[in-house]
Amino acid sequence: MSIKTYFEMTEEKVNVLIVGSGPAGYTAAIYAARAGLNPVLYQGGQPGGQLTITNDVENYPGYPDGINGPQMMVDFQKQAERFGTDVRFGLATKVDFSGYPHKVIIDDKHEITANAVIISTGASAKWLGLESEQRLNGMGVSACAVCDGFFYKGQDVVVVGAGDTAAEEATYLSKLCNKVTLLVRRDEMRASQIMQNRVMKAPNIEILWNTETEEVLGKDEVEGVRVANNVTGEKTDIKATGFFVAIGHKPNTEIFKDFLNLNEAGYIQTIPGTSKTNIEGVFASGDAQDFVYRQAVTAAGTGCMAALDAERFLAQKESEETEENEVAQQAK
Ligand code: NDP
Repeated sequence: MSIKTYFEMTEEKVNVLIVGSGPAGYTAAIYAARAGLNPVLYQGGQPGGQLTITNDVENYPGYPDGINGPQMMVDFQKQAERFGTDVRFGLATKVDFSGYPHKVIIDDKHEITANAVIISTGASAKWLGLESEQRLNGMGVSACAVCDGFFYKGQDVVVVGAGDTAAEEATYLSKLCNKVTLLVRRDEMRASQIMQNRVMKAPNIEILWNTETEEVLGKDEVEGVRVANNVTGEKTDIKATGFFVAIGHKPNTEIFKDFLNLNEAGYIQTIPGTSKTNIEGVFASGDAQDFVYRQAVTAAGTGCMAALDAERFLAQKESEETEENEVAQQAK
């Protein structure tokens, strides 16, 4: 019995394969489908991506009254399907970009060979791992100040983290909220000096050093945060209506690391101004390659870039093949 039949691996050949279903993946699908590239899109482990855990999206142009995150992603999917995208449930578990066409394995059992691959696997916010944090997610617990900060206008919020993301989120929130308490687990911040300076200058940000989160308080919505000083052991309850976790993001790029150039934090490196990766025919879009902007609208923009880059790549490939065939015919 061969290994293939043992695992019952099925095989399929597609033209354009899109991996991931956030704004980047669906936008790539809309463009690729309209260009007649017959895209197949696999939704991944969290269909709809990070926006499905956001309540109201108010900063995506075109929705003057805002839109709820999950509904927005249903609309993205509908639009991609309207032009013929084959949207499927399934997770890319392995890739082989060593040859051409490229290979992507779905759910460890379906091998897809694709002429072009668009990666839009996104990133996941890191969480503290507390039960209360999970239970109140979307009900006062958030990992995105730009998305949700507006709802806490004039209120008191807590931010946890000490890197550039935490500094940026705390500074952003300080302009909207009454008071921001920043919980730093050591006696110094990891954030760049310039970002730290902004935090220190804001009159309404209080930093609690050597402080860790014990519990997010509240039954159906956030009412406060119980913290503990890891030097003195002293516990304090801070009153707050919002709790922002800003301890970093993890790009969902683990399966690509043997083939694609990633930066230190694991984000896919693209050729500046394009969506091209170091492998011809493999393109990256959205948060899997963007650690700076991380917005739905920028992800959608890079999804569009990836589809256009893939279209050009395939057209070029086709004309090269036609030329090669003509030369071969003439040589006969
Ligand atoms: P980082 O990994 O740099 O920082 C994560 C922070 O969270 C650290 O300070 C860490 O503390 C803290 N942390 C981790 N786990 C816990 C925990 N369980 N409890 C409390 N605190 C915790 O992530 P960032 O997202 O901040 O940054 C990632 C990269 O993106 C960096 O290279 C950064 O420079 C870049 N970036 C750039 C921006 C910009 O230029 N505008 C904006 C945002 C990010 P400790 O220090 O103790 O380990």
